[in-house]
Amino acid sequence: MKAKTVEVESGECRDSSRRTFLKLTSGAAITGIFAASPSGNLVYAGPLGKEKRDKMTPDEILAALKRGNKDFSKGLRTSRNYINEQKATAKGQFPAAVVLSCIDSRAPAEVIMDLGIGDIFNARVAGNIANDDILGSMEFACKISGAKVVLVMGHTACGAIKGAIDNVELGNLTGLLAKIKPAVKATTFKGEASAKNSAYVDAVAQKNVELTIADIRKQSTVLAELESKGAIKISGAMYNLETGTMNFFA
Ligand SMILES: [Zn+2]
Repeated sequence: MKAKTVEVESGECRDSSRRTFLKLTSGAAITGIFAASPSGNLVYAGPLGKEKRDKMTPDEILAALKRGNKDFSKGLRTSRNYINEQKATAKGQFPAAVVLSCIDSRAPAEVIMDLGIGDIFNARVAGNIANDDILGSMEFACKISGAKVVLVMGHTACGAIKGAIDNVELGNLTGLLAKIKPAVKATTFKGEASAKNSAYVDAVAQKNVELTIADIRKQSTVLAELESKGAIKISGAMYNLETGTMNFFA
């Protein structure tokens, strides 16, 4: 029987990680955040397969993503064999979610949600905005490939948000930042509304996630229909670079 192993990245986490390890090994085999069944039985080892993914509801998938970030932020992570994951997923993929996030090097979705190869589709663009190509990618992810969650993830101290606030103009970046500017306009904020004020920057980033979600529903009838049938859930989150925690909107 293979058990989930947790690695401790700072001495302070050692005690709590040991408790987690003991708790997990008292069950059954587990690797990865999609390991626990809704009943709490630990039944899964290796990358998420079609059968397991198809049995999960959008809410269960969101809960697994939350659990993964919780583990990450505590310094715990699943011990992975990437070569095994690569081999196990080579013939097909059954990701549970599609995540739209910023290109920021400090916010890698798989790492901060303790995910492995094949677990999620991953779309990244500065400022995590949607455009036709991103929407097409999401439609493929959900309608064709069967992912059940669309998660738009913004983050604190986002350079793209600061650029939009400051009206930065540079080559193709100008057009990209124009897509973020509606969030700058729509943000109501008491205090200094400048890129130097981190609270304001983060408020705009949160608004930008909200508007991107609204945009996805408005611009993609494919995704809007899947959501109205309950086949998928479209949600958002903000990742805090300082704490390593994600604040999920739902
Ligand atoms: Zn960013």
